Amino acid sequence: MSIPYKYHIITFGCQMNKNDSERVESLFRGMGMESTEKETDADVILLNSCSVRESAEARIFGFTKNYVELKKQNPNLVVCVTGCMPGRDKGKSMGDKLQGVDLYFPTKDMVHLPKWLYEINPNFRNMEDLQEDYLSLRPTLKKHTQAFVTLQTGCNHFCSYCVVPFARGLEVNRSLKEILEECNALAENGCIEITLLGQIVNHYIAPDPQYFSLHNPYRKSDFAKLLWEVNQIHGIERIHFTAPHPIFMSEEVIDAMALPKHLQFLHLPVQSGNDEMLRKMNRRHDRQFYLNLVKRIGEKHKNMALGTDIIVGFCGETDAMFEDTVDLYKECQFDISYTAQYSERSGTLAVKAFKDDVDKSEKKRRWWVLQKLMEDIVYQKNQKYIGQTVSVMLENATKTATGEWLTGNSEHMKRVRIQGDDSKVGTIQKVKIEKADKWMLWGHIL
Ligand code: SF4
Repeated sequence: MSIPYKYHIITFGCQMNKNDSERVESLFRGMGMESTEKETDADVILLNSCSVRESAEARIFGFTKNYVELKKQNPNLVVCVTGCMPGRDKGKSMGDKLQGVDLYFPTKDMVHLPKWLYEINPNFRNMEDLQEDYLSLRPTLKKHTQAFVTLQTGCNHFCSYCVVPFARGLEVNRSLKEILEECNALAENGCIEITLLGQIVNHYIAPDPQYFSLHNPYRKSDFAKLLWEVNQIHGIERIHFTAPHPIFMSEEVIDAMALPKHLQFLHLPVQSGNDEMLRKMNRRHDRQFYLNLVKRIGEKHKNMALGTDIIVGFCGETDAMFEDTVDLYKECQFDISYTAQYSERSGTLAVKAFKDDVDKSEKKRRWWVLQKLMEDIVYQKNQKYIGQTVSVMLENATKTATGEWLTGNSEHMKRVRIQGDDSKVGTIQKVKIEKADKWMLWGHIL
């Protein structure tokens, strides 16, 4: 029996990229290949790149440079780069500078990967070239109990700092029928938690709305309707989505978050608390709109934990403008913020229209101000969980000198750690919280 060829995938960036890597993995498996943790054992290495920040693209250059050395030891090694970097690099100006890369293609072209690999090395399994949409490929799950389900790709919004519309193209929504089939198949295979993904996930518009149930209670928002449909699937116990845009948080979507399986956590990007910055970022809402929205959500969902994305040091951001963000942060009492120091991304509207004029050291200072604020707020907020019972999806087990520990996320997306063995991994347990820190709650299974 011949030894199977091996692949090694490295994924950068967001959950969407992780879900795309799971699709690539299905292609490799379809070719009879096996995964390897070691780059040195691999016959094919695939880097799924991210372009959100300059540093993410710089890492691709670093990795591929190392593979030039690896290829000297293994001349048959095939190196592939996909994801946002080739997606936005239409003239291949970056691709041409990468050393030792055999295949450089945008995500949507992954369906041709088996054919291209066979053309490079006819010893790889020959497969008929796939013609289907890459989103129709079923992802290979690392854990059968949790899955991402992508609803859409691309974006029409052109926030001025963002590469996504260039890297992934305009918004394309997946067929509702296909999404529901995927969710049902996941449930049948033991999946209990689904995270619905999209660039503006709450802007989902079903191309085939006839597949919504007749008794679906929502009338206006396809996304709210979809949340209801996924809630009806037997076996699925937890539903979450990311990332929504504030302007599409309609009353129906806010109401649908009260459906029984929905997690009590919302990630709602704000980017800035200053109107002038929001306008330059082309976010299409102002500070007050966001604050009103958070208030409305809080009124309907008393215990909803809130996360956000913030960019500091965007073009022309003064100290006073940054202080508006600090004030908004305090008012919203976010549980978590993914804060970025603005860096120019070539091709974006911001690069063409504005000057990146905030000093690096000042960006760093503002980042630390928010970081400190986040830690103070989340520490205080987490204290309220002491004595409460939360439900935790247990994801992994580790053995330490102090015993065996299980870790998972509560319904508020708080990391929770309890003592226990790995037989409970992949289950949802009721946990009574005894101790709370910034980033961890500790308790015991009831
Ligand atoms: S909404 Fe804005 S930030 Fe989000 S993907 Fe679209 S362009 Fe980028």
